[in-house]
Amino acid sequence: MNKNSSLYNKKAAFVTLGCKLNYAETSTLRDRLAARGCAPTQEDERADIAIVNTCSVTGEADAKCRHAIHRLHREHPGAFIAVMGCYAQLSGEHIAKMEGVDLVVGQESKGRIIELIEEHLEARQMGARADSTSHGGIFYHSPLKDIKTFVPSCSRGERTRYFLKVQDGCNYFCTYCTIPAARGLSRNPTIADLVRQAEEAAAAGGREIVLTGVNIGDFGRTTGETFFQLVQALDRVEGIDRYRISSIEPNLLTDEIIEYCAQSRAFMPHFHVPLQSGSDDVLVLMRRRYDTTLFRSKMEKIKAVMPNAFIGVDVIVGTRGERDEFFEDAYRFIESLDISQLHVFSYSERPGTKALDIPYVVAPQTKRERSQRLLALSEEKRKAHYRRFIGEERPVLWEHLREGKPLLGWTDNYIRVEAPLGADIAPDSLSTVRLGGFNESEEALMALT
Ligand code: SF4
Repeated sequence: MNKNSSLYNKKAAFVTLGCKLNYAETSTLRDRLAARGCAPTQEDERADIAIVNTCSVTGEADAKCRHAIHRLHREHPGAFIAVMGCYAQLSGEHIAKMEGVDLVVGQESKGRIIELIEEHLEARQMGARADSTSHGGIFYHSPLKDIKTFVPSCSRGERTRYFLKVQDGCNYFCTYCTIPAARGLSRNPTIADLVRQAEEAAAAGGREIVLTGVNIGDFGRTTGETFFQLVQALDRVEGIDRYRISSIEPNLLTDEIIEYCAQSRAFMPHFHVPLQSGSDDVLVLMRRRYDTTLFRSKMEKIKAVMPNAFIGVDVIVGTRGERDEFFEDAYRFIESLDISQLHVFSYSERPGTKALDIPYVVAPQTKRERSQRLLALSEEKRKAHYRRFIGEERPVLWEHLREGKPLLGWTDNYIRVEAPLGADIAPDSLSTVRLGGFNESEEALMALT
């Protein structure tokens, strides 16, 4: 630890917005800063450095980022404010002009953010900026074509659960999506690197790893490896009892991956697959790389080899071009699938996306109604999945104890389970229990012990 560093003996506050990838990145950054003598702030402590890891998935996400920056500036006057992430990449110049912002780091430079903070903090302490900018923050920006670096990240969620970033960026350019412009093209580390990170997580007490990425199934573009090879290699890591794949494009979810998961040691019968629309007309407008026939075949394949599997499906409502009849087609298609839950998102217009060329715009009220209908359908499907397993025995990985609250855990097939108060179950342990009925909030099943 360099005691002469401008970071030494400082306190840092963090705000993270957006997806699990951002959370994994912030968590790794927090550990790296702590190793340099810059500890995270405790409650009510004043920060010397504040870092915002931003998201730009919707206009609302952009507004939340700006709000977080204003709040940090207000609550930590004088703190060095650094901003990174998707919104920083897309709107860095605007953010750099915001009051209190010292540094904005685009995607290619985020792996160097600690060194950049150190350098500019030192310059600020010496009363001079490191460059000639006399007002506003300094913006390190690289155009999309130059975003090539993979920043490794592995974060701890619950005490035993880790989120491991296995891939970043995307080459698909779906018409509604801003991610390729915000995070760059698809890239990944080697399988050997990821196996090492999984071994380190196991050594630190991790038992479950969630594989995260932007387009995970596209793993291997950088290294010439495949996602299937990664799955097989991780399955052999001792000490990790469970893996979950956070989300995988249906066209990249191959039958060999599904069949392997069905007989693997540690990959759970749990899939999360983005459908986005159940209408073939809308899928074409979105430039997705599959149709509803392919999607249905993947769902059927999963259920054929893992009848107990939980399947979560992403859907976007109100995209441009989603006419009433297309939404009705989509609703009927989704209703007919043997899936367990929907993650419903409302379409948000993003500057620079091709979807803006589609003339048909869905009214906000219609979007809300469609969203409500799908959320109600999702709730029916989730409860039906839970109900099927009442009376059966399933393995549960329990979380850590929260004072005065019941112990909670997840089954292999992603059913939330609540232990009765006072039950003889050790936190952070894996045990097989018989599932009883729904708890009071109907969000979990009660364990019969
Ligand atoms: S595959 Fe996903 S991340 Fe890639 S462009 Fe399409 S929606 Fe965006």
